[in-house]
This record gives sequence, structure tokens and C-alpha cells, in this order.
Amino acid sequence: MARNLRVLFVASEAVPFAKTGGLADVVGTLPDALKDVGAEVRVLMPYYGMVKQGKVPTDVVAENLEGYLGGTPLAFNVRTPASGDYPFYFVERDEFFERSQLYGTPRGDYFDNLERFSFFCSTILPVCQNLGFQPDIIHCHDWQSALVPVYLHHRWQEADVLKRVKTVFTIHNLAYQGLFSKEKFPMLGLDWSLFGINGLEFYDQINLLKGGIVFADAITTVSVRYSEEIQTPEYGYGLDGVLRTRASSLHGILNGVNYQEWSPENDQLIPAAFSAAKIAGKAKNKTALMKAFNLDPKLEKAPILAMISRLADQKGFDLVAAILPELLAQDLMVVILGTGEEKYHRWLAAEAPKYPGKLGVKIVFDNALAHLMEAGADMFLMPSRFEPCGLNQMYSLKYGTIPIVRATGGLADTVAPADPAAGSGTGFLFSDYTPEAFAAAVNAALKAFKNQKQWRRLMQNAMSQDFSWERSASAYLNLYKLLLAGQD
Ligand code: ADP
Repeated sequence: MARNLRVLFVASEAVPFAKTGGLADVVGTLPDALKDVGAEVRVLMPYYGMVKQGKVPTDVVAENLEGYLGGTPLAFNVRTPASGDYPFYFVERDEFFERSQLYGTPRGDYFDNLERFSFFCSTILPVCQNLGFQPDIIHCHDWQSALVPVYLHHRWQEADVLKRVKTVFTIHNLAYQGLFSKEKFPMLGLDWSLFGINGLEFYDQINLLKGGIVFADAITTVSVRYSEEIQTPEYGYGLDGVLRTRASSLHGILNGVNYQEWSPENDQLIPAAFSAAKIAGKAKNKTALMKAFNLDPKLEKAPILAMISRLADQKGFDLVAAILPELLAQDLMVVILGTGEEKYHRWLAAEAPKYPGKLGVKIVFDNALAHLMEAGADMFLMPSRFEPCGLNQMYSLKYGTIPIVRATGGLADTVAPADPAAGSGTGFLFSDYTPEAFAAAVNAALKAFKNQKQWRRLMQNAMSQDFSWERSASAYLNLYKLLLAGQD
């Protein structure tokens, strides 16, 4: 193809405009990386209250276009950033999107999320028609945009502008599926025949994610291992059967890391820069980290084990709780930064005073502190129950903070098992989701730490890993090309 491939991303969040999770990083970062390999990407997302109030002013580029809810037409505007090089378009309909949050408040999800996001999906056709944008690929992300492939098959078959388009649907986390009561099905504007086992029905409810899985031309997950795992009952959240039927169209493409932001050589948020060649600077960060968490200066030579995480069941905090007393009986320090479920807030608040100078806990979202922890700690804990990709272990590798991870999803794909005596590998892995298996991995790491020469070697191995966006972008581009060539 002589001209650049044209891609439309449809997503519910993207940095720098609106973010609740890793999805926003992917959607905000991948377009630039794709541009570098020769694709022209535009991103369509809702015009949330936080976009409206954000730093980037926008202009209306199309007014009074017509989306729909069920069979009812509903008007909307399209906006773009007034200046700068952002390839973004925003769907403006305040009734749905001018809210304080994206999906709900701490008290629960917004009651009309099905209406909000099915309307959002309905806008794709009028946006492309009105802006004269004829995409080759529409790339949808997570349940909020999963109706687009369904509409392409069942509402928009006659639309010229989308006639030859192929769809990619990326699952960033299978645990979030967009489940709604079947009474709302008429809101989708689809025939009831699609509410069935081969359509959007899931145990008598509507499952929007399933629509994306069934009707997209290709499905991707954010690591290869996760794409395999979700085809099993243990990880499939009830969708493993459907995913198996699409196995030949299911691909894993690992997320990248933004090394502009996350590399110890040029990190503006840490007290001392360092690199594999000049590793001494890491010690200064350790001292600063110990201060930040009020850790006992006498333990300076002992390792710091860090954890930065959403406080959610997915992340393996029950395993951490199970081994913590035994762990902290040794000469070491543990620092934990996270926010999330109330039960974990209470648990951590109760644990911290029991181990003064050894256990540091901060229940806040603090990006600068996250950088300091990556820079100053010696080891990083990620005992996740499941992990679609995971970013922190990749950051840890770059900062020479040896990851101790469960061998699942993206963790298994990015951390190579260490053999300290042989000088190979980048981290410590365990398979069984049990406190014993986790403790064994931690103990292996602690043992290796005692031989600083061997440990240095592991740090060097870890720091030389490269998980840049360039690699991911090339993999997506290849997939797009395969689809357009009719080979997938
Ligand atoms: P997930 O997307 O499942 O939450 P990831 O490891 O993929 O997990 O990404 C989490 C991101 O959020 C990382 O960049 C991590 O540093 C950041 N993060 C999570 N909790 C906090 C916190 N309390 N303070 C600062 N950053 C955090």
C-alpha cells in the first residue's frame, strides 16, 4: 500500500486527557509509536468533564451530528484540541459525559453506563462520514467500545465509508466485561436475535465485551501469555469457551514502556540519576526512599522490597499478608504504596505500626514517590493472581530493582528466571498461587542478594531489557496488514 494505513482508535480513556488505568497509557501512547512505523492514527473518545476542564482547550469541528440510543437519534458535537499535535477527537454530549468521573463514583458505577457507551459507539459512523475519514482499521479497546464491531456487522453494512474496514479488539483486562440487565437490550438498537449464545448474551445478561470478541476481525490481549491463559476456565471469567472459538484470531502483543518517563538515566523525579554503567547513584535514591518512609537508618545495608499497586484482589495481597510476619522477622524493609479497596486500606493501616522502621505504608496515589520507590528499592513484589501485562515489573527491570513475580500473564513474558550462580535471568518467579511458593521465591531472592557480586550481575541483566513501544507498534502494524491482506 503506497499511502499510510489509516487507523481509528475507539476508546474510553487516553492520556493526557482522562485516565483510570493502563488502558489510557496504551491509547495515548501507541498512536505516536504507530505514526513512527507508518500508520496514521486518530483517536475517538468521550468529551468528559475532566477533558472540558483540562489544560488543553478544544474547538468544535462538527456540530449536531446524529448518533442514537436504541432507535432514537441523539445529537452530538465533535471537538479536537485547538492546538498541538494531538490526533484526538472528542464526542460531546454533556448529558452522558460531563460527570466528575469516567465510569462511576466510589459508591458504584453510573446507572446508565450501557446508554453512555452504546451511544458513544453509535457515533463512529457519523464521525467518519462527516469528517471524511475513511479508516482501513478500527481498533477498539475494552468493553466500552466493543459494540463497534457489532454495529459494523448488524447496522452499518451499507455504509460506504466503512465498507472495507477491518476491526481489531484489544482486551486490556478480561475481568471488566460491561455486564448489564437484559431489559436494557433494546437500548442497543440491535435485533433480539443477537441476544443469544452466539451473540451478546451471557448467563441471561448483556455482555458487551463478548460482542467485541465475537464480531471483531482480530482480538488482541496485552501479553502473549495472557492470550493463552484466558482460553482456560481458571482465567477465562466465563468467556474461555468463546475465546477458544476465536483462538486463531487471538493474538498477544505486549504493551510498551514509556522510557522517556521511566528510565533512571533521565528521570527528573528522583534525587540521583544512574544507569547500568554508573550504578552507584542508586544508593542515594535508597537513602532518600528510607527517609520518605521513615525506615530505620541502621538497616541501610539490608534490602528494600517494594510494592506499588492498586489495592485489589487481582494483585495478590492475600499472599503478601500471609508471608509478611515471617518476612519482617528478617533483616529487611518493605515499602508499600497503593490505593483501592477499603479492606486493604484497613489491613495496611493496622500492620504498619507493628513494624516501626521496617514496614512503610502510604495509602495515596503519588507518581513521584512511585519513581523514588523504583529507583531506591532492591526488589519489587508482584504476586498477582492474574496480570494482563503489568507495567511495574518492566519499570523495575529498568531501575535494577529485581522483580519477584508470579509466573502469569505479562509477568511471565517479561521476567526471565534468575540463576544467580550462572549470572543469567532478570528476576524470581513462582507458579502456584500459594504463600509457600511466594515465600520460596522471595527467599531465593534474599539469598541471592547476600552475594553482591552475583546480584550486580542480575541488576545489569535487568537494566539491559528493552520493552519499548516501537516493538509493540510494529507488531500491531503487522497485524493490521495481515487483516487487510485477508490473511487473518
Ligand atoms: P494495573 O494497570 O493493573 O493497575 P500496572 O502495573 O499495569 O497495573 O500499572 C499500574 C500503574 O499505576 C503503574 O504505572 C504504577 O506505577 C501506577 N500506580 C499504581 N498505584 C499507584 C499509586 N498508589 N501511586 C502511584 N502510582 C501508582
